[in-house]
Amino acid sequence: MNNTLCSVAIDGPAGAGKSTIAKAAAKRFGFIYVDTGAIYRTVGLAACRAGVAKDDVQGVTALLPGLAVRFDYGPDGAQRMHLNGEDVSGLIRTPEISLYASAVSAIPEVRAFLLDMQREMARTMSVVMDGRDIGTVVLPDAGLKIFLTASAEERAKRRLAELREKGDPSTYEEVLADMRLRDHNDETRAAAPLKAAEDAVLVDTSSLTLEQSIDRVCALVEERFFPEGTK
Ligand code: C5P
Repeated sequence: MNNTLCSVAIDGPAGAGKSTIAKAAAKRFGFIYVDTGAIYRTVGLAACRAGVAKDDVQGVTALLPGLAVRFDYGPDGAQRMHLNGEDVSGLIRTPEISLYASAVSAIPEVRAFLLDMQREMARTMSVVMDGRDIGTVVLPDAGLKIFLTASAEERAKRRLAELREKGDPSTYEEVLADMRLRDHNDETRAAAPLKAAEDAVLVDTSSLTLEQSIDRVCALVEERFFPEGTK
């Protein structure tokens, strides 16, 4: 582990609270938060816009050389996604693009296309990076790996509340079905399937409040990188 740079890998299924918790932990320790799901969503959006079917592996792969996928951080510190120069940060947050992201992320060429961009962040900065394969593939040497999970019903309830806030009319049943489909896709794909790294700490947030979940993750960061107030 690098003495000055800290990397925290947080993996887990959709809706476990990864992004909110990772963002809060990054802020508390002054690390950069990297949302890797947003990167896959951007490729999903590109495929959707190009009219390529979700399961058209060749069609999606053929798009890659023409895609410039970049991210940066806005004045408020939020990660912004750019597709061929256009800010698509809002456009990638729809249920349709969630399913596109889930499908394109199963394509090995897509994963290879996005790998360096993710690793580069941790080479130069202390990061909290969340995704599905951060501890297993992207940052196998991360100083701390966390597998964050919760029951599918609890995750669907939380995701529904988020969608409702944005005025999305999806029902609980639809959100739960999407969640289960994405879990299934992520867990059963051949390329970098969702699974806990052997050395990951398991955190189940089903019966924890958001505050308790953040505190638990921050306590793990503190223990691992700043034992006995070395910060
Ligand atoms: O985390 P989020 O739900 O935004 O991710 C969207 C999709 O991108 C996931 O369903 C998953 O299939 C895929 N993904 C991935 N590897 C990552 C991050 C996300 O395969 N590191």
